[in-house]
Amino acid sequence: MQQNISVEQAKSIVLDGREKTDIIEIPILDSLGYVLANDVKSQMNMPPFDRSPLDGYALMSKDIKNASIENPVVLDVIDYVPAGYVSSKKIESGQAIRIMTGAKIPEGADIVIKYEDTEFTKKNVKIFDYMKSGANIVRAGEDIKFGEIVLTKGKIIQPADIGILATLGMSKVQVYNKLKVGIIATGDELVEVNKELDEGKIRNSNSYTLAAQVIRSSGEPEILGICKDDVRKISENLKSALEKYDMIITTGGVSVGDADLVKEAFDEIGAEILFWKVQVKPGSPITVAKYKNKFLFGLSGNPAAASITFEQFVRPAILSLMGRENVELIKVKSVLKSNFNKIRNHGRYVRGVTYYKDGGFFTLLPDKHSSGVLSSLSGINSLFLIKAGEGPYKAGDVIEVELLSQPETVR
Ligand code: AMP
Ligand code: MG
Repeated sequence: MQQNISVEQAKSIVLDGREKTDIIEIPILDSLGYVLANDVKSQMNMPPFDRSPLDGYALMSKDIKNASIENPVVLDVIDYVPAGYVSSKKIESGQAIRIMTGAKIPEGADIVIKYEDTEFTKKNVKIFDYMKSGANIVRAGEDIKFGEIVLTKGKIIQPADIGILATLGMSKVQVYNKLKVGIIATGDELVEVNKELDEGKIRNSNSYTLAAQVIRSSGEPEILGICKDDVRKISENLKSALEKYDMIITTGGVSVGDADLVKEAFDEIGAEILFWKVQVKPGSPITVAKYKNKFLFGLSGNPAAASITFEQFVRPAILSLMGRENVELIKVKSVLKSNFNKIRNHGRYVRGVTYYKDGGFFTLLPDKHSSGVLSSLSGINSLFLIKAGEGPYKAGDVIEVELLSQPETVR
């Protein structure tokens, strides 16, 4: 077990030795946001035939070699071919076929002249200029070639990818399954959301915040209720949860006051504790263990601490277990709009509201920074890591922030 490690060390541990979720096959429209489990190779050319990219006349380029405004070439129009149809006629010298966007190039033609550049009647078309053979023809396979890898393993499926799969005739796709995450709240003071509060009690909010964060990280959360501050009870809950879920998150019971109940419970069930405590606030007492390739995250009970350590350590673990290669949050340079005066001998994640205005990013810091303050989390969309000993910062300083989501309002 490592103790009191840096943020970087902790991040590399949660991304290490990962065993991905199962590969499942699902309908393409259900696959948005999943990670592709295999390369997708095209079994066809796209387009499947040479086609016209515009409305015009298909003809032989050699017929219009000497065409000019003064001496236009007049060709016989022998057919009309809209998209989705094929002309049964073959073009001979002196002939043209009126063709619509997306239609197959008729046999004999090696060029399409757009109809705005012509003068035409039903029977004839006049061409005023020469164009090289092959002009205005989209070749079979120009978009996607037979045998080409169109989508690579590890890619997050986006709307356009679903369209590509449809084009290729694939109604299903193989993806990494969602990671199933069980969430256990520990604490004698906790009651469920729908219960009255007795003296000294608070409602369990962490399980809900974290479950929503799991969903935002593309995982599948299950809230497994509240567990008393009792090592044996926590161990029993962990054991039964490990039978059903790929990852377990607990909150509470990791600070000194709780005598490290969760860490003891991790030990008791035979999990290997990977690290305990990270040199950053809030959330420093985080305990991370592994039980048969399943991660156990023991987060602080402080709502802000639990939420921030989730973003920093749990989110990347969930994403990488679901096959994602790039699990980093987007970092941007931003101009501080608030002062931050504290200098500490430990690293610190400060929550911020970052927005884009007049070509740049700006970050406001909320007034309440305490890790126990739940209300300060609402509206924040970014984190600013202050390293040990750095600061103070004043409004106007340029900082680097990690973006969690879009800002809700533009100021
Ligand atoms: P702990 O990490 O157990 O020492 O808890 C730290 C603080 O977070 C205490 O004030 C707890 O009451 C509070 N807390 C613990 N668990 C939760 C929870 N599930 N929801 C909301 N607050 C919590
Ligand atoms: Mg507690």
